[in-house]
Amino acid sequence: MTKSTTWPRLNLAAGPVQVMDQTLRDAARPILYHYDPAFIELFARTSGLLQDVFRTKYDVVIMQGEAILGLEAAAAGLLSPGDKVLNLVSGVFGKWFEDFIHKYGGETIELAVPYNDAIDPEDVRKALQANPGVKYLSVVHSETPSGTHNPVREIGNIAHEFGVLTMVDTVSGLGAELLNPEEWGMDIAIAGPQKCLGGTPGLSLMTVSPAAWKALEARQPEPLRASFLSILDWKSAWLDGKRFPYTPSVSEMYSLESVLDQTLAIGMERFVDRQQAIAHACREGVKALGLELWPVREEIAAACVTAIRVPEGINDEELRGIMRHRYGVMISPGYGELNGQLFRLGHMGPAQAHPTILAAQLAVLERSLTDLGYPVQLGTGVGAAMAALSGWNDEGVGLMGSSRHPATLVT
Ligand SMILES: *Cc1c(COP(=O)(O)O)cnc(C)c1O
Repeated sequence: MTKSTTWPRLNLAAGPVQVMDQTLRDAARPILYHYDPAFIELFARTSGLLQDVFRTKYDVVIMQGEAILGLEAAAAGLLSPGDKVLNLVSGVFGKWFEDFIHKYGGETIELAVPYNDAIDPEDVRKALQANPGVKYLSVVHSETPSGTHNPVREIGNIAHEFGVLTMVDTVSGLGAELLNPEEWGMDIAIAGPQKCLGGTPGLSLMTVSPAAWKALEARQPEPLRASFLSILDWKSAWLDGKRFPYTPSVSEMYSLESVLDQTLAIGMERFVDRQQAIAHACREGVKALGLELWPVREEIAAACVTAIRVPEGINDEELRGIMRHRYGVMISPGYGELNGQLFRLGHMGPAQAHPTILAAQLAVLERSLTDLGYPVQLGTGVGAAMAALSGWNDEGVGLMGSSRHPATLVT
């Protein structure tokens, strides 16, 4: 078989994303036997680094499969038949989680908003007041397909006021905001290395609160054990005994260790700040081109990707095709029912979220729109984005000092 498709110059899609060379080098180290003391040490060390990146004292579990594994494991492990779950839906992933809830015997109460909007915490309070039997709440922190984020901190705290445990999909939220599971009321939070951390796909990064452990043990008719989906298996094997329920993905663990080391070398505050500064600059560029952001309000725009409404008269498949095949830049379409309505510029993790990469991405977008006869002034978007980045300094890994956009600070 001959190779026919040229690989892109830049992977600026919505995840998995381009990764740092250092990560690839570290992932390419020799394969250790999983009970080699060096691997046990690496796994333990990486778990500790993950706690630091999540900024939590809760137990962390690294399940050995893409983040969907962690999401399904949360539903499978927590839900007993008939459990009521308030499922918050502001996009494709939120809606999709309903299938897991039903599959594992839960009943859903849905609180939904249009897929370009975010959940209002006060509506969560009203829904919990109106439905006293609710046991769990599920929410997507950063709805990657819509380029929006939900106020999970407020939502998680309201859930806890009602004694409701939370399952939080923060697959693309970790690294995008300075989150903290304890303060944000996250009982089981699931993240992925391949989104804002800029790592490789293949693992589920999870935090589990003490209340969530109790709930996993209390599942009816019995706790979920002896299963690839079992979080409790990881507790009894790894957390309690430094053993593995099965062979971990050795190279993926090397890659994760590398990514977490790189992240913590920068520090979470600066890491998140950089992510938000680039996302802000991207939005400035997009608006300067006269394009419309998909989120209804800019405050709810996510820091992982910028979602843009497909402009009148443009076919998004054609636009993405030109960017990919003429200029070697891969971006993402709308996902699921959003397909055809929007396209997404990725800026996740250190290899994507950088001024040089953003400039190339916007320049190629401008060039491709021009190729399609869409009226843009070449350089307008790039100029606005670069203007928003005055004060950038690679040594400080981001915007420095007073030039930092206020909206990029999250406490
Ligand atoms: C990427 C992502 C997932 C994982 O889904 P895949 O389709 O396997 O990539 C789950 N939730 C969110 C919000 C994500 O961004």
